[in-house]
Formats: sequence, structure tokens, C-alpha cells
Amino acid sequence: MDRISINTISQVIQRGATNPLQELAEVAGISIDSRTAKEDDLFFAIQGKRFDGHQFVNQALTRGAAACVVKRGEVTDPGSQLLLEVDDVNHALMQFARWYREQQSARVIGVTGSVGKTTTRSMIYTALSSCLTGIQSPANFNNEFGVPLSIAGIESSHQFAVLELAASHVGEIRELAAIALPQIGVITAIGHSHLEHFGTLQQIAETKGELFEQLPATGLAIVCGDDPFADCLASRTTARKVRIGLGENNDLQAVSIEQDQQGISFRVNGQQYLLPVVGRHFVNAALAAIAVARELGISEQDVAESLRNYSTVPGRCHQMQIGDWTVIDDTYNASPDSMRAACQVLHDHVGTGKRIMVLGDMLELGPETERYHRELGILVCQAGVDLLFACGKQATSVAQGARSAGMSHTKIITAADVELLAEDVTDLLEPGDVVLVKGSRGMRMERLLQHLQQIV
Ligand code: ATP
Ligand code: MG
Repeated sequence: MDRISINTISQVIQRGATNPLQELAEVAGISIDSRTAKEDDLFFAIQGKRFDGHQFVNQALTRGAAACVVKRGEVTDPGSQLLLEVDDVNHALMQFARWYREQQSARVIGVTGSVGKTTTRSMIYTALSSCLTGIQSPANFNNEFGVPLSIAGIESSHQFAVLELAASHVGEIRELAAIALPQIGVITAIGHSHLEHFGTLQQIAETKGELFEQLPATGLAIVCGDDPFADCLASRTTARKVRIGLGENNDLQAVSIEQDQQGISFRVNGQQYLLPVVGRHFVNAALAAIAVARELGISEQDVAESLRNYSTVPGRCHQMQIGDWTVIDDTYNASPDSMRAACQVLHDHVGTGKRIMVLGDMLELGPETERYHRELGILVCQAGVDLLFACGKQATSVAQGARSAGMSHTKIITAADVELLAEDVTDLLEPGDVVLVKGSRGMRMERLLQHLQQIV
């Protein structure tokens, strides 16, 4: 973040109030977590469901925070010159982020969608960062707290910022886009994540479309042209549009897609690309990156060169070697769409060993939960998986689905929790096998990976 005087911040979030004691003081960053607050940070005492930042104001100051934004009357402190009192700290954080964003000349790329936001923003960052300076959202910072913190990472020397925006309710993307002010918007896909909160796919599409609504007419909307909601999303913006995908009607169409030992290769407009990853779904992310890079004036050859060095984000189809086994760590999360992509990964896998899937429940799917899990079992069988391990409350539905599609019951093992499967998995694993591990965040499927790492 650029250094800013506390007086200026005070004018932004306290309706112009100034404090003579703060005349010379400056902040160098913002923080909402006192454990990681740094010297000269501005600490926002956020009140969340499980925590109240006001309890940590002293800790933040001890760690060197320059000042703290607190709710009026909530903290009485002798060093009160270090406190900026506001009516609503969460609102002040958004206000600050919006103002700070307006000071920056970096082109902002906003990425939303039901699935693939982190994958796509990391791909865009890879495509841009060898030619331009900029930032991407750290970790999975994509909500009302994460987006302001990401924005605060922009500096005046930056040429771009690629930011992830997420929603768990209608209107949230609109609020986030109103502070991020993206000139380029990417909607990765409309899918079944958080269906429990939204109710219908239409509602999900409506919410993601809020990103396109916020784009200026001079901006660019990157539309997934193969998505059934593509037209509906495109109609939400006056910005220029570019359609990306595998279908013929797209402006940027990927053709000749092939997976081999080196990764996924494909061609776009005659340019050959190679991504060192497993998973066809990465092609969509790469197309978005190609479209953004083109908009920012980067040549196709340079993009192709950068993407050859793309590294997957841990937990998102991240392939690694543990002992003699190939392990695909997809433990970060799961939804019907990303499970489908994971099944495709094993289907395309090149290798002679067994294909093994260790799956945990997909959470937050609402009343149709069982059906989605049965359908998953069918996909697993169709992908040619040799051994299926399923754990969680829905394990039997996955097993039922797999059996209904013709998978032998001798190839399916279920359990209540992944820890109860660990021994069985290791007993049956042989050198050369590939094992893909995946489930919703709450299932903590990474425990299986830890077990595998311990036994080699
Ligand atoms: P979150 O909402 O939790 O931030 P996200 O939208 O950022 O998720 P990622 O973290 O990129 O999504 O990916 C989540 C899962 O979806 C991973 O398993 C990843 O491999 C898979 N995935 C990524 N892109 C796609 C895609 N286009 N289609 C299907 N699955 C995908
Ligand atoms: Mg994410």
C-alpha cells in the first residue's frame, strides 16, 4: 500500500474530522487481524460473528499499528490519538478501500463465478506479471473483508490488480465491485456452489452478473461463451464483450486440446499453448488470461511463454509425487461442477497404474444433496476409476450411484470420516497408482494427504 497520512484517512472515514495529534502520522498498510498486524498498519476493529476486533486493539498497537479504527464509544484508551472512531467499522473499511482504489491508476480485473475464481485469477496474474507489474488477491481474499485488504495491496507503481470477488448472497458482488471498480470483468462459470443460499442457478447467475453491471462502457466483459447463461450475462453490461470457450461461436476458441505427461496443450488463433497441469478445466482459466493479456497489450507469444510456467494453487488440482504415487490434491473444496472436472482429470490420466478417487461430501447443496451425490457416483464409474473411497454422510449415495452405473461393489469402500479410510487406502495403493483426493472444505480431506506423507 502507498503510505497515507492518518489525517487523510480520517477525512475519508470520519466525514472530514481531523485530529491535530495525527498531523504527521502515516499508515503503511491495513490489517483486521492483530496477530499479523505490522508496524505502521491501520488496524480496523471488525466485529464478526465469532470475534470482536475491539478486544485486540491493544495487541495491534503493541505490534506497532499506527492507529486503530474503532466503533464510537467502544474503546476508552489513554492513547486515544491512536483511535479513529466511526459509527460502523465494517462500513469504514469499505469506504477506505473505495477511496484508496480511486487513487490508483492500476487496471483492475475483477474475477467472479461459482467455481474457478482463484484458479483464474492466478492464471491471469501469471499471464500478466512477466510483462507488467501488479498484484493478485492474496490467498482466498474475496469477501467484504478480503476485497478491501486486497485493494490495499495496490501501489501507485502497479499497472494491474487482479481481484477475486465472491458472493454468498444477492447484492454482494455489486457491493464488492463498487469498491474494486474493475475495468475488466471475468465471470468464470455459473454452477452449483452455495445453492443452499441462492436457491436456483438463475439466482446465482443474477448475482454473478452484478459484476458486469458495474463495468464502465469502456471496459471489457469476458464471458464464458459455452455457459447456458452466457447471453443473459452479456446482456447485463454496456462494456465491450469477448466470448471465450471451446465452442465455435466464441471470439477466443481453444481447439486441439490434449492432455499428456507434460500438461494440457491447446491452440487459440493459431498460437500454441502448454499449461503444465492436469485438468481440461484449466483451459477456461487460460482463455480468460489470454483475453485479459490481449486487452492490456501483451503479445500472444509472451502469454504462451508465461503460461508454460504456471503453477497450480495448492488444493486446486495440484499434482504431486508422494513416494511412488501420483497424488492430485484437490482438497480445497468441492461442488458438482468441480467434481465433474475432477472425474475428467482421472479419465484423461495417462499412466498404467490404478486410478483411485478418495471423495468427501459436497456440502451446502440444499434439498437435492442426495441426488447430486448419486450423480457423482455415476460420473466416477464413467471416468473409469478403479477404486472409489467415499466418506461422509453422503458416502452411501455416491456408492449407490457408482454401483447403479455398473461399478463393482468390491471396488467401493465407504466410511463416516476420511481418517477411517486412511489405512484401507494405503493398503491398496501400489507404485505407479494415481490418487485424487477431494471434498468440501468442511470435510478436511487434506488429512489423507498428511497420512500419505507420514508413511512414505
Ligand atoms: P471459492 O469460492 O471457494 O473461492 P473458487 O471459485 O476460487 O472457489 P477455485 O479455488 O479456483 O475456485 O477452485 C475450486 C475447485 O474447482 C478446485 O477443485 C478446482 O480444481 C476446480 N475448478 C477450477 N476451475 C474450474 C472450472 N472451470 N470448472 C470446474 N471446476 C473447476
Ligand atoms: Mg477462491
